[in-house]
Amino acid sequence: MSAAHSVITIDGPAASGKSSIARLVAQRLGRTYVNTGNMYRAMTWAVLQAGVNPQDADAVRAAAADIVFESPVVEGKTEVCVSGRTPTEAELNSDPVNRAVSFIASVDEVRDRLVAEQRALAAIGPLVMEGRDIGSVVFPESPHKIYVDASEEVRASRRGAQGRADQIAERDRIDKQRKNSPLVIPAGAIVIDNSHITLDQAVDQVIAALQLS
Ligand code: C5P
Repeated sequence: MSAAHSVITIDGPAASGKSSIARLVAQRLGRTYVNTGNMYRAMTWAVLQAGVNPQDADAVRAAAADIVFESPVVEGKTEVCVSGRTPTEAELNSDPVNRAVSFIASVDEVRDRLVAEQRALAAIGPLVMEGRDIGSVVFPESPHKIYVDASEEVRASRRGAQGRADQIAERDRIDKQRKNSPLVIPAGAIVIDNSHITLDQAVDQVIAALQLS
């Protein structure tokens, strides 16, 4: 494998706006955008397709072991492909996936596989990678770490405006309390409060904060 390229890490809670920010930061800087939430969502979608109870960790482990996972780069961002199928945005963001994803993401073997996949992506070129544990666990040595936060009210109303039912408070609770790679503000991360600024302002703040030379 070739040498790892630099990775800008962007973490934060559900519906904080980090995906939109990360996508635009990647576009502005000419980097590949990686949405790791979609990787956990794709695994979840595939496990649910297999008829497995997402709260049965042993059954999840067994089902996940059979899934072939790939992350091809398409037009500047990675897509998720599970056992030869690329689930649609609607499938990745469906109610059943929203309800189950934090359970699937707390299974060690699922995390081990996806973290290995995420680290391997650094060979393809400079990245902007967003998720929950990117600055704390996946690339803790990165000098470019951002944590995007927003108030719970703002986050809930953003999801509502997207017309999507999502248990964001419940997902955050599980994501912050799990033993393996909980959601934290990574050491050395710059925190951006995205409650009351526009998307363009948030992108400008992130790029200024990174002080890229
Ligand atoms: O970012 P998004 O809200 O789409 O992530 C969906 C879920 O995937 C999160 O609630 C979390 O359980 C899991 N996740 C994770 N680690 C990441 C990215 C997402 O555990 N790096």
